[in-house]
Amino acid sequence: MTSTMRAVQVSEVNAPLRVVDLPQPSPGPGHVRIAVEACGVCRTDADMVQGLFGDQPFPLTPGHEIAGRIDMLGEGVEGWAIGQRVAVGWFGGNDGTCRECREGDAINCEHLQVPGLAYQGGYAESVVVPVSALALIPDELSFVEAAPMGCAGVTVFNGLRQTSAQPGDLVGVLGIGGLGHLALQFADKMGFDTVAIARGSDKEESARQLGARHYIDDDKQDMAEALQALGGAKVVMATVGAPAAMSAAIDGLRARGELVAVGVSPQKIEVSPVQLITGEKSLHGHASGTSEEVEETMRFAVQSGVRCMSEVMPLQDAPQAYDSMMAGTVRYRGVLTPAGAAA
Ligand SMILES: [Zn+2]
Ligand SMILES: [Zn+2]
Repeated sequence: MTSTMRAVQVSEVNAPLRVVDLPQPSPGPGHVRIAVEACGVCRTDADMVQGLFGDQPFPLTPGHEIAGRIDMLGEGVEGWAIGQRVAVGWFGGNDGTCRECREGDAINCEHLQVPGLAYQGGYAESVVVPVSALALIPDELSFVEAAPMGCAGVTVFNGLRQTSAQPGDLVGVLGIGGLGHLALQFADKMGFDTVAIARGSDKEESARQLGARHYIDDDKQDMAEALQALGGAKVVMATVGAPAAMSAAIDGLRARGELVAVGVSPQKIEVSPVQLITGEKSLHGHASGTSEEVEETMRFAVQSGVRCMSEVMPLQDAPQAYDSMMAGTVRYRGVLTPAGAAA
């Protein structure tokens, strides 16, 4: 093992991504070091680069969809071994002591650690994480397949299974990108009657291949009317940060329907009390899942065949991968691999 590693660094808010050599990190007590084999490029990485999380450490290394092998154990680590294949997602560790943790609600920990914010993230050859962040990868998933499950995958899987929707219910997925293409597959495999909602007709064919039984072109059709024509949605999961579309989706819900917001935006969702009161509809946000839930997501992916569709790029091309994600030209998910396309 060399004493330096390649990693991406962002020196300050909105600075360009640069590939640099950094000292190889060592794990402290309760931490492990992971030799990174794959790291997904998530839209939220851009929010970190743009400084939207306030009190952020710069220089920062983004990356919170990490998959690799444990290659060093810190002091006092039990239950994990060198060589194990692990994933680390948005849930990068919790304190275990705050009220939410004591209530068993670790994803809402007051001191939730997110890779890229709390510590250096996975756009690197090595990363050091607390053991509470670790999810064991099933043998059936490659590193490239596992990495996006730590944020994109668990977010939509958990977001869907925690609703009141039952098999056979109409469930809409708004936006067919990195999150949406996974949400469609999970919704289909969970037995929902799935409807994809996107702008334009060019996404219809791929949406149907991913498991959509119905397709609504939000440019041509009135989304709410189209959903009501199908009986009204029990759930619409909004996977893109498009507040106006979220507002429209509320009127496409049936009684006791739920709009689940997972696409991030600082803009306001407009909704009147009467929209929510009529039919007792609800609107709630959903944030990712714990390391245990990442394992459940990966197990369900193995069981059902759900896979993230990724464009694999070498770590040194991280700046281009990031730009493609921002430009919306990536097919579903960019995944960086230190080894190139081999992981
Ligand atoms: Zn993410
Ligand atoms: Zn906590």
